[in-house]
Amino acid sequence: MLKQSRFFRFQNGTERYIYSGYTGLLLKDNDTIKNFLDNPYGDETLEKYLISDMGSGHTKNYSNTTPYVEGIILFVTNYCNLNCIYCYNKSNEINKADHMSTDTFEQAIQYFLQNFHYGKTISMQFFGGEPLLNFPLIKHAVAYARELQDQYNVKFWFSITTNATVITKEIRDFLWENKIEIMVSIDGDRATHDKQRPFLDGSGSYDTIMKNVQLLSGLPALVRATIYDPRTNLVSLYEDLIESGFESLLIDYASINKCPVSKDDLDLMAANIKDLAGYVSRNMQEGRVIRFKNIMENIFKIHNGSKKRHPCDTGVSRFTVACDGKIYGCHRFNNLETLNWGNVFKGLDFSKRTDFLSSHIISQRNPYCQHCWAGMLCGGDCYHTSYMASGNTRSIDQTHCFAMKEIIAKSLLIYTSLSEEMRSRIGKRTIRATPIKERQTNFPYVAQSIKDGIEVLNIRALASTSDSDLSVCDCDFCEGCSSDIIYA
Ligand code: SF4
Ligand code: SF4
Repeated sequence: MLKQSRFFRFQNGTERYIYSGYTGLLLKDNDTIKNFLDNPYGDETLEKYLISDMGSGHTKNYSNTTPYVEGIILFVTNYCNLNCIYCYNKSNEINKADHMSTDTFEQAIQYFLQNFHYGKTISMQFFGGEPLLNFPLIKHAVAYARELQDQYNVKFWFSITTNATVITKEIRDFLWENKIEIMVSIDGDRATHDKQRPFLDGSGSYDTIMKNVQLLSGLPALVRATIYDPRTNLVSLYEDLIESGFESLLIDYASINKCPVSKDDLDLMAANIKDLAGYVSRNMQEGRVIRFKNIMENIFKIHNGSKKRHPCDTGVSRFTVACDGKIYGCHRFNNLETLNWGNVFKGLDFSKRTDFLSSHIISQRNPYCQHCWAGMLCGGDCYHTSYMASGNTRSIDQTHCFAMKEIIAKSLLIYTSLSEEMRSRIGKRTIRATPIKERQTNFPYVAQSIKDGIEVLNIRALASTSDSDLSVCDCDFCEGCSSDIIYA
């Protein structure tokens, strides 16, 4: 049955728009559409553009398929020198806090190469704890992976998520020489950051990090901020962090159980997201790029007709190996035994992976996501955030969901403000499941008129299939931005 909750209507200036959560198409809205949705069917054109994917698409059977690996996240150490207030890992409190051994690392890489499908490249991300506390293994890992490239006909590219407290000139040169992309975690100004990300002894880490960030100048570095206070001014946060020399900013709101919020807080969060959208839109109109990834990636997905089945590639094509060799889908599942999927010595438990992915497809996950207009752009809430909020990976964290919907709604608004020239610069789709050349056909950037007064704005979405789980952006807006880095 048609669900009205799967349509999102909004206004930009004098124009009205409607986004269909069934087809992923963004149309100019008018009374013809309104009348059709009040009494659907009987108009083949509107059926095609507004409701044609009803009941199809968002199902997939993962059983009996050999996984395809695109990314491996390696906990090179569990140790950390910070004590972040929202940390899910608290590695120093975990009895097994340890470094990954060289043997475990080599076994992990060999295991994936010998037992999984893969394409031309595999990303390898160094994670922890603070991964640079085990710099010797990172050096070995890069050299070892490079040695295997010819034998397995694959190229590795590397990234690291670091708190930037232990960067030295030697580490900087190594990262540069090996083209390792860097994701640095900084939560805002000194007061905010020091409160949220202190050293183990309670002292602030901000000054140390900002000094080290200067060493990273010229390297491909993104910054990631965890928003603990929902009232955070996102425009100031962006301007301060980009001024420090980072290429782009990604934010994530801390889980609700760490950060209880009131109705007033949600209103302030929405107001801040609205201000951010206005800032991004104004700058784009004037030809300036705002590299706020949460917004830019949604614009990319809207443009290309994303039909996400899951929130991320966790367990689909990206796997995590813990220090002791245990395999998890997401890096945040580290040490959550119920979410362990085997280890690199005995192998992946395929049935656990299959059960997890099948039961978390958005159409199967929970009533909120099943009936949500934003589902194909969101893919459902982060499993780990949901787990932290309720102990159930299939539910949602209401605060996260609220923020997600606000950001997607404002991304749609920005999209409708873009000129055709701006839209022509949005990247083409890059879809894993289908040969890329087949999909990069020449879709026009201009809106397509389908009926009197009704136009489709995101024409490329017409070619979107249920496989269109757009996770890789090749957007022209953020030339050089490292879009495929892991979002910790
Ligand atoms: S998490 Fe929220 S925004 Fe995302 S699909 Fe589910 S209900 Fe929609
Ligand atoms: S933290 Fe959440 S969104 Fe990120 S990879 Fe893990 S499950 Fe996916």
